[in-house]
Amino acid sequence: MKKLLTFLSCLLLLSGCAYAPAQTARESFECMDTFMNVEICGGEETAAAVRAEIERLDGLLSASAEDSDIGRLNRAKSVTPDRTTYELLEKSLGACAELEGYLDISVYPLVEEWGFIGRDYRVPGQASIDRLLQSVSYQGVRLSARESEPPILYAEIGENMKIGLGAVAKGFAADRARSVMEADGVTSGILNLGGTVAAVGKKPSGAAWRVGICDPENTANYFGAVEASDQVIATSGSYERYFEENGRRYCHIIDPKTGYPVDNGTVSVTVISDSGFQSDALSTALFVMGRENAERYWKDKGGFEFILLDDNEELWLTKGAAERFRLADGYDFPIHTIE
Ligand code: ADP
Ligand code: MG
Repeated sequence: MKKLLTFLSCLLLLSGCAYAPAQTARESFECMDTFMNVEICGGEETAAAVRAEIERLDGLLSASAEDSDIGRLNRAKSVTPDRTTYELLEKSLGACAELEGYLDISVYPLVEEWGFIGRDYRVPGQASIDRLLQSVSYQGVRLSARESEPPILYAEIGENMKIGLGAVAKGFAADRARSVMEADGVTSGILNLGGTVAAVGKKPSGAAWRVGICDPENTANYFGAVEASDQVIATSGSYERYFEENGRRYCHIIDPKTGYPVDNGTVSVTVISDSGFQSDALSTALFVMGRENAERYWKDKGGFEFILLDDNEELWLTKGAAERFRLADGYDFPIHTIE
């Protein structure tokens, strides 16, 4: 019997604007297939504008919706997208190239085939995996902008292709949300976009925000927390969405090279960086890479920190992450620092 378990990410926000002498405004809503909670140290209008911007993005970016830019692109194989969609497509293609194909927005047909879109989970036959893999390549996405005012934007994909921006949309949304706050002069808040958390500024008390990282074995708890200020903390975990069949667990992150759900001993990867887009793209890609490749990649490129939990309940933290991380009471996971 198929067992299905879907857990929502549980990055806990350890503290809010409680000390705020100023106003606090909250919005809690369902969007991008997850729950979001926005808490800003500012007015209701700003919180509402943040929510509206994230909902607008969902309306543009959903891969399965009929009338979104990406939905239309997937059906018709070409679209003249909104400039925001175009911007994210450009950034995403750049990230796919930079991340050596571990991140690939065109892996979507395999995500669908394994049942992660329709929640009709199943293990596909090797023949269909092989067939679908033939059309997986972000290089098959073509973008062009014709000079005019405003420019005419165009996106096109191969005949058998479909793309999905699920690995980067929440991080991008976090960046857009921060811009909305900035435009309103709001400098403090914490935005939890379904496990991708933007820590904006500092708490009104002047201390950094603390962001908890979910315990995969018990998603109501967190095994530790990081301090963050003006950073986005994104986590990709095999526990977030998966199913089990014949005693094996299949998670929702697919290795674009094999077409199979990642099964490399990584349980979760949390990335901390200044950019939401970067944190989200990297959390997915490092998860696919696995610990040793993730370490190599970090040493080569830098510009971010990560916390990786493996299936022996050991933690691997880059130096900068280790400085800002604390295990929660009751957890004794061994910690390895990567320098
Ligand atoms: P979550 O959405 O749970 O926070 P991620 O940011 O890691 O997690 O994104 C995972 C989503 O990205 C999957 O649900 C799937 O739609 C898509 N995806 C899965 N594997 C890949 C991959 N290798 N490259 C790009 N997108 C992927
Ligand atoms: Mg991601």
